[in-house]
Amino acid sequence: MDEHVVIVGAGPAGLAAAWAIRRAGRDPLVVEQADAVAASWRGRHDHLRLNTHRAFSHQPGARIPRRCGSYPARDDYVAYLQEYSAGMRLRLGTRVHRIDRTDGGWALALDGGSLTAAHAVRRSATSAGSATRGQRSARLPGSAPTASRSRWTTASPAR
Ligand SMILES: Cc1cc2nc3c(=O)[nH]c(=O)nc-3n(C[C@H](O)[C@H](O)[C@H](O)COP(=O)(O)OP(=O)(O)OC[C@H]3O[C@@H](n4cnc5c(N)ncnc54)[C@H](O)[C@@H]3O)c2cc1C
Repeated sequence: MDEHVVIVGAGPAGLAAAWAIRRAGRDPLVVEQADAVAASWRGRHDHLRLNTHRAFSHQPGARIPRRCGSYPARDDYVAYLQEYSAGMRLRLGTRVHRIDRTDGGWALALDGGSLTAAHAVRRSATSAGSATRGQRSARLPGSAPTASRSRWTTASPAR
């Protein structure tokens, strides 16, 4: 197995998952199709601010600095996420095309190759549509999607 855990996407949710997994003692690989973390936020209007208060918008383990104001500006939020990702293992500029079940894990087809992993975490959808194809991943108890756009699926091999 190449990796214990692979996370697809280095947006706020993928980075939060990586933080939690690192805290649990593993060092996941985060695979991101863009050339930087927080790609969706980098692409948003340069005058955009969070419409959720700073106190309710932070990642696990790291508050958004007070100097960013109540409703942080796009660039401040991007900088915050960039800093949050420091020390995480990132593979940028790499799109994940498929995730398929294998014996004991998952096979991921990526730009320029493939990876095997015991566990994979991916979004089940993005605002732009399906994050990956391959629908054989399992939704674990407690990971049901919320009503927001941030729908994630954890995939874990059956035991
Ligand atoms: C205009 C706008 C304003 C918003 N304002 C707020 C706000 O103020 N507060 C709030 O809480 N939420 C807000 N949201 C909701 C927003 O969706 C979240 O803030 C947040 O960006 C969602 O994080 P995410 O990690 O789930 O998704 P994203 O930020 O979309 O990150 C997903 C990442 O996965 C990558 N990816 C996708 N598919 C693949 C693939 N196949 N292979 C590799 N990488 C892949 C993408 O490139 C991206 O970097 C806003 C949304 C919009 C559109």
